[in-house]
Amino acid sequence: MADHSEPAGQQLLLCSWLITSAGEPPKPDQAVLVKGSVIADIGDQTSMQQRYPDATTVDLRGCAVSPGFVDAHRHCYGVLAHGIPTEHAPADFWAFLNEFWWTQVEDRLDHAMLRAAMDLACYDMIRSGVTTFFDCLEAPNAIPDGLFAQAEVAARWGIRGVLCFEATERVSRDNGELGLRENANFISACRTSESFPLLSGAMCHHTTFTCSDDFIRKAHRMAKELGVLLHFHCAEGTYEPEQALKRYGRRTIEHYDDLGILDETTLASQCVQLSPEEVRIVGERGIRVTTMPLSNCEVGGGIAPVPEMRRAGAVVGLGTDGYVANFFATLRGAFLIHKARLLDPGVMPAREVWQMATADGARALGMESLIGSLSIGKQADLIAIDLDLPTPVTAQNLFEQLILWRDAVDVHSVMVAGRWLKRNYLVLDADPEALLARAREAAARLWSVR
Ligand SMILES: [Zn+2]
Repeated sequence: MADHSEPAGQQLLLCSWLITSAGEPPKPDQAVLVKGSVIADIGDQTSMQQRYPDATTVDLRGCAVSPGFVDAHRHCYGVLAHGIPTEHAPADFWAFLNEFWWTQVEDRLDHAMLRAAMDLACYDMIRSGVTTFFDCLEAPNAIPDGLFAQAEVAARWGIRGVLCFEATERVSRDNGELGLRENANFISACRTSESFPLLSGAMCHHTTFTCSDDFIRKAHRMAKELGVLLHFHCAEGTYEPEQALKRYGRRTIEHYDDLGILDETTLASQCVQLSPEEVRIVGERGIRVTTMPLSNCEVGGGIAPVPEMRRAGAVVGLGTDGYVANFFATLRGAFLIHKARLLDPGVMPAREVWQMATADGARALGMESLIGSLSIGKQADLIAIDLDLPTPVTAQNLFEQLILWRDAVDVHSVMVAGRWLKRNYLVLDADPEALLARAREAAARLWSVR
């Protein structure tokens, strides 16, 4: 596994195309100087080679170098539930949670399962070019310290991440309080201990249908006091807005607005079933949003109004939900699904999808000063994707070529904070057979608990 000493020396990365940010046109024949954990200079290859003759050259010609992907929402434990047998497909989103996800997955998780799942998830993320992830742990019987069990594994891989525990009053009030405390303890450990240099925490509650108003206000207050984001799942299907209408006479986002918790602290994931008025509120309050197009399909939740939220001014990051291991599948989902819904091939151009997967993911997680684009002084979190394509690559078509015709296997190299985690198509210090064996053993235990 990666050691955490400061990466030594200067590395000069030569690449055929450089994406500094999805907001800028890609440039050919560029070089990036990495010094320690940060980007120290960027320029054309010839002048950079003259300027830094003593730097170690890393030849990535034949590749596009880009900011690493930000998987802005996932549940790493979910890998153990892939293919879990169910007697019949759930009737709706409520049935999905109540008859399947809560009872057969979340409530059965223990620390050993969390560790095995996180190990495999980190390997999969690095393999497909994810350099930062946001994980939401939902395991009411694995606290206290479920977050710490996960963090010890993630820290060994050297990947950057935000970890939170989804506090819920679904099991009991005490369990909800324990969940909030789990987050507070983890946030403080990330700040005070050197064990998790690339990890941080967030506050998190589940939904309006599993948490009381007082509990939600408390979670928001704690997030403010601790200076972290408050994350929650929002309107993932029609169930939550329907319940909110019945209970409060207003929809989910309208209810949160009435509670006074929609501000720059707020990170709402999913946001699938929103009315036009809710979309307007999301944009006006400047809350952060993450979208998971493929898992929304799985649960029959619908298709989130992502182009509408972006137009309204919301920052929208892109996530896998842990439903797929390959981030490129999610890129393609985000690229295609809104075109079909809106009967318009012009929505969600490839460049905007790349932006959601990098800079906007970083902004959604409040990490834009560190990551999300490649510029001098930012962290050296980057990926190189090979361009062994049958058709020419141009500045105009690069994003589309990458999203549609590249895949996790084409990710040549991955760097986080100046350290290589994948080189020449191989994840470093990884034993995939052992990872799979541990995950299979954990999944067998999860599936057999009755
Ligand atoms: Zn989720």
